[in-house]
Amino acid sequence: MEKQTALVTGASRGIGRAIALSLARDGFHVVINCRQSGSASDGVLEEIKKAGGSAELLCFDVSDRASGDLVSAWIEVHGPFYILVNNAGIRSDSLMAMMPFEDWQRVLDTNLTGFYNITRPVVKEMMLKKQGRVVNIVSTSGQSGLPGQVNYSAAKAGLIGATKALAAETAKRGITVNAVSPGFIATAMLDGLSLDKVIEQIPLGRLGTPEEVAAVVSFLCSLTAGYITGAVIPVNGGIYL
Ligand code: NDP
Repeated sequence: MEKQTALVTGASRGIGRAIALSLARDGFHVVINCRQSGSASDGVLEEIKKAGGSAELLCFDVSDRASGDLVSAWIEVHGPFYILVNNAGIRSDSLMAMMPFEDWQRVLDTNLTGFYNITRPVVKEMMLKKQGRVVNIVSTSGQSGLPGQVNYSAAKAGLIGATKALAAETAKRGITVNAVSPGFIATAMLDGLSLDKVIEQIPLGRLGTPEEVAAVVSFLCSLTAGYITGAVIPVNGGIYL
């Protein structure tokens, strides 16, 4: 039987890398999206292959409208994706009063419009196939709002709304659409934060790991999770209940 395929955006490092490795272990052929190929994305590919899994690289920038055409072209050759994980994300923090428009735009373009660019061509084919799993990586910031992250909170809250609307729109076609909402996870995204102060605020007293987020994504993509759609599942150590 042919392997089902999963597309994971922003999978060169951090949470996306852990998700790619986890889905490969689950038996999916993983398409690892990276902005540019290089040692990080090559490393993920190597690691999956070494473990007996199957994967390939597909380079594109999710914020670029033309990336949707590239994804459509891939689908035309290889067939529809069974799984899409919209993971690629950036933050660019500052107080609203100081926020340059470019920082607002860049964060919205990547975290929210990136979802549109990639999901539209993928879901179109899932609808025809009448199956599929979409998982969006959101953030506690999009649920509670965080000072210094008006742009990021707006993008992630928008993505939560999009998750629920798309879940309602596609359920009759056998597609599930969910969001996983990490709190503070130990990746490069936390660079520059005062981690001691952050950890003091987390009820479980530590940062989360990318693998703890990936485990939830794997579960949502499994057959066992077939009755879960439109959900926002927190992986946040209790920081937002
Ligand atoms: P990292 O900064 O470690 O990794 C981000 C990944 O996204 C990189 O692979 C990066 O690629 C990729 N990426 C960024 N912009 C684009 C783009 N335009 N097109 C394609 N790929 C892109 O962050 P995390 O792993 O921590 O974050 C992953 C997701 O989890 C994000 O959506 C983030 O918002 C979310 N999240 C993270 C939290 C945390 O505490 N770490 C908390 C809550 C949510 P490149 O190597 O080219 O830069």
